[in-house]
Amino acid sequence: MILVEIVSDIHYHNSGILQKTRYILPEEVVDISTWCDFTRDKIRGDDPMGKHIVDEAKRCLQCKNPRCVKGCPISTPIPEMIDLLLEGSIHEAGEKLFKNNPLSLVCSLVCPHEKQCEGHCILGTKSNPVQISSIENYISDYSLDVMDLKAEEKLQGNIGIIGSGPAGITIAFILALKGYSVTIFEAHDQIGGVLRYGIPEFRLSKDILSRLKDKLVELGVVIRPNTLIGPVITLEDLFRDGFDAVFIGTGVWKPRKLNIKGESLGHVHYAIDYLKNPEVYDLGEKVYVIGAGNVAMDVARTALRKGAKEVTIMYRKGMEDIPAREYELEYAKIDGVKFELYKSPVEITKEGLVYVETEKVMDGEKEKLVTKDDSEGLFPCDSVIIAISQGPKANIVNNSKGIETDLRGLVVTDDAGRTTREGVFASGDVVTGAKTVVEAVRYSKDVAEAIHEYVSGKYKNMNEGQ
Ligand code: FAD
Repeated sequence: MILVEIVSDIHYHNSGILQKTRYILPEEVVDISTWCDFTRDKIRGDDPMGKHIVDEAKRCLQCKNPRCVKGCPISTPIPEMIDLLLEGSIHEAGEKLFKNNPLSLVCSLVCPHEKQCEGHCILGTKSNPVQISSIENYISDYSLDVMDLKAEEKLQGNIGIIGSGPAGITIAFILALKGYSVTIFEAHDQIGGVLRYGIPEFRLSKDILSRLKDKLVELGVVIRPNTLIGPVITLEDLFRDGFDAVFIGTGVWKPRKLNIKGESLGHVHYAIDYLKNPEVYDLGEKVYVIGAGNVAMDVARTALRKGAKEVTIMYRKGMEDIPAREYELEYAKIDGVKFELYKSPVEITKEGLVYVETEKVMDGEKEKLVTKDDSEGLFPCDSVIIAISQGPKANIVNNSKGIETDLRGLVVTDDAGRTTREGVFASGDVVTGAKTVVEAVRYSKDVAEAIHEYVSGKYKNMNEGQ
């Protein structure tokens, strides 16, 4: 009798629940095809996660004009993926999803689905929408490792990609699949950008990024880690060394300052720095987070998980104004994060956070926020983390010629991601300012096509001139 127990699937569900599925192989020697059938039966049968997915998939009405697709920034082929899943073609469904969005698996976990696909599902008007994200997650998770990715052909052209966040990864996949030689330059030691060094592990498993990296390497993409382009290697160096086109997808990694006294003290940190590696911080027991966006929620929830006893978000407006996603706010509350509303920071001291109270008043027709007189107070705390947004760093634009930026330091491009320097393209947060993963992917798909057009045109002209 052969009894093999395999911990085979780990699902990170939108609800944040980790589910492990244990499969026990039948008492027979199984060849691989039997194993696949067995696995498929498990998806459809008594595997509770698979059953949930099938039940959800069956609820889809297959609308003629699917509103879910219109609600998705990247037009995920939702009815087709559901159809394929139910007819037993999960791999085909996975390939379709990947082709449309190489970060489908990531998006299934971190997109604001309630505003996008699920928020537009017709069933949601009277009851619960189909849990599209869970279905996409199941399919993309299942198919990522087994998908056979091969370049269509070998093309002439050498492309340098600076930054390996969602924008850089998308461009790398699309151009490597077309057959170009692709090299990624990444300032950090691992790929992923915010996906690895911003979004906490409890929301997005870093294992997904390692799996995406394996796929890139399989396709022949060269990854050069720990390489900050700009101060040492410049754009000029890349062109000198034979890169035909360069893509900039460097994101927004410069924290916005509060510009108040005390900001340089040892117990004051910036959100984006803290999230990179929370383990190295000793925050103490009582922590204040300034700001109330998604990043602030991630910081507060991480600090609690790393041992802080009390974490409070301080925000200058009311609960109804909080810019974070509703779900992120709910999760923060569930995790025990406290809130101090209508308070604005004026100074940080060794003892804690000095604030003034604020209130909304009417100024003619308009509402405005003012500080209350004589309302200053101190919240004693051990650490303060500032989470009031990020802007782009200038490593590349300050050290290379011809890349125009706007007043916020964002790279100026046309609709296809062409910068003001020939052969240099850009997309993602470094162009749009802080947005979302799916926005970075959507934009980068168009930019990849523009790079393809540019490089293929260059070689066509060269070959015709020979
Ligand atoms: P990034 O992800 O920032 O990647 C840029 C990469 O470039 C980084 O790896 C960086 O190290 C590298 N780099 C920078 N400069 C250089 C250089 N000079 N040389 C070499 N490499 C360089 N979006 C969602 O959709 N859902 C979420 O739940 C969500 N949560 C978020 C949580 C946090 C804490 C943050 C900060 C953002 C979150 N976002 C979320 C936003 C989303 O992650 C970003 O919009 C997205 O990552 C942008 O992708 P990008 O490729 O443009 O940039």
